[in-house]
Amino acid sequence: MSEAVTAGGIPAGEKTFLGHPRGLYILFFTEMWERFSYYGMRGLLILYLTQHFLFSDARSAVMYGAYTALVYVMTIIGGSLADRYLGQRKAVTYGAILLVMGHGLMAFEGDGSKELLTYQGQDYQITLEGRGGDAPQVIVSDSGRSYVSFNEGATQMLIEDPGAVGLPASIPTDSYTTRVEQEELYVNILYLALALIIAGVGFLKANISTIVGSLYGLGDTRRDSGFTIFYMGINLGSLLSSLTVGIIGIVWGWKWGFGLAGIGMLAGLLTFLVFQPWLEGRADPPSLEKLKEKVFGPINVEWACYLAGVGIIIFAMLTVMNSHLIPQWFVGMLGVLVFLFLVAYAVTKLAGIERDRMLAAIYFILAQIPFWALFEQAGSSLTLFTARFVDRTMFGVTVPTPVFQFLNAGYIVLFAPIFAWMWIALAKNKLEPSAPVKFAFGVFLAGLGFLSLVGGIGASGVGLTAVYFIFLIYWIHTMGELMVSPVGLSQVTKLAPARAVGMSMGAWFLYSGLSNYLAGVIAQATGAETIGGQLTDVAAAKAGYAEVYTNVAYIAMGIGVVMLLISPIIKKLMHLDVVSAEDDPQPASVAAH
Ligand code: GLN
Repeated sequence: MSEAVTAGGIPAGEKTFLGHPRGLYILFFTEMWERFSYYGMRGLLILYLTQHFLFSDARSAVMYGAYTALVYVMTIIGGSLADRYLGQRKAVTYGAILLVMGHGLMAFEGDGSKELLTYQGQDYQITLEGRGGDAPQVIVSDSGRSYVSFNEGATQMLIEDPGAVGLPASIPTDSYTTRVEQEELYVNILYLALALIIAGVGFLKANISTIVGSLYGLGDTRRDSGFTIFYMGINLGSLLSSLTVGIIGIVWGWKWGFGLAGIGMLAGLLTFLVFQPWLEGRADPPSLEKLKEKVFGPINVEWACYLAGVGIIIFAMLTVMNSHLIPQWFVGMLGVLVFLFLVAYAVTKLAGIERDRMLAAIYFILAQIPFWALFEQAGSSLTLFTARFVDRTMFGVTVPTPVFQFLNAGYIVLFAPIFAWMWIALAKNKLEPSAPVKFAFGVFLAGLGFLSLVGGIGASGVGLTAVYFIFLIYWIHTMGELMVSPVGLSQVTKLAPARAVGMSMGAWFLYSGLSNYLAGVIAQATGAETIGGQLTDVAAAKAGYAEVYTNVAYIAMGIGVVMLLISPIIKKLMHLDVVSAEDDPQPASVAAH
């Protein structure tokens, strides 16, 4: 860096707050609001798809998986456009505008889909009374309405008030047919809203992390501490949204929850617009002349980048709409191709220590997959499980399902500083586990979390599972997250050569996205038969969850053990003992969290 630098790599005369550059706090609050809207909306999404639009469990899980995958996959495009032309500041602003539009559009819900049941030539409507896991099924005829339930094995539909609807007290489930009628306009609004959010996150997410990195010089000892503060901002946003968006969406109505997510994102956009001078030009376009160059007609490079965003929106909308048609091998192929590309880059363009370190970075990029595939059940299958099978009554109040999303974020905000302190304390005694060992533990914990929940399911017999097991699985998973996610961000930015950091960060998020897709595939395997957005055969559905969760738990724990066994090889590739001019002067211990 050209600026005067004091000990510890801190530029002299820098304006700071609590020891960090002022810019960190704008990024903290912008990302806090962005994650507020992202996680708030995500907490409602699977319930909205299954209960409002009456998509089947399986179709909803795939759509959810495709959405959460694309959200991260598109960061590779947003990141590259920012690196080459737009600069991060403009890219983040554009992303934030798209996000305000996307979340705002989610608030247009329409009347919802209708499930029609035909019995002996007569049509009845099946609906839910209310939202969330407790919403009971109701059958409506011209003459009145009645609650319905199903016998064990779901061979009979039981009508609570047969007189009101003019039906017998029970009718065999094979004696009627059902069909769902959706309002096309509102389903398309949903797809467009999801596509706008995908493009918005694509332009914002990787770039805002890159700006955090740009606030610190290579030798600046505060870099990792800065990333830890930033990661807390992410989770503070998620925590606040689960307590507000989640509750309001269930209690008042979907649109109020989604609308609030949109207002949160607007707060993020305004924060970024007002305070961006604090970034002191660090996220500006690499060349203003280049930006103004005409590409075709009146369109210059800057506008061509924004039009690329429109291209992403169209592509994302088509993909989400047809997510159930995308063959799984196609997504797998994308993962393999990017892997081959990264390895080819390391082998052909790099040599020596640089090559070894890039290979270690590629290992971390891939090693996150089993972790997120299990962890990301949180928003899909685990949300449905919590809604359906968990006794959510606490202190006399039935807690709405999306509120449980707050556990992960709450644990992070509580435990991130403890972990940061713990790594440093262990390092002082030369006991700190290396990053590959932490990753192995993280993956193992993802499996262990599910195994503990399966234990809880077993202990509850035919009844509801105790809510403590939900507290437990989220706690175990969060401990794993703290060993994988911030460690991975830090390692990738350190191990990739400076000229390939952007690409490597994009790859990190791309595989994070592909893992979300894999999570959707796993969630789909748990999907049960439903009518009107609620289960028919409760016992079979519960057994299905337990089986899938047991299988994925053992697989992840096995992978964790293998990762532990190969960790010495990865550690060697990282060349922790070699300190080159490009290395941070700080010990690897601080670097790893
Ligand atoms: N929870 C983190 C975030 O939202 C990491 C997400 C991910 O990489 N899948 O930023």
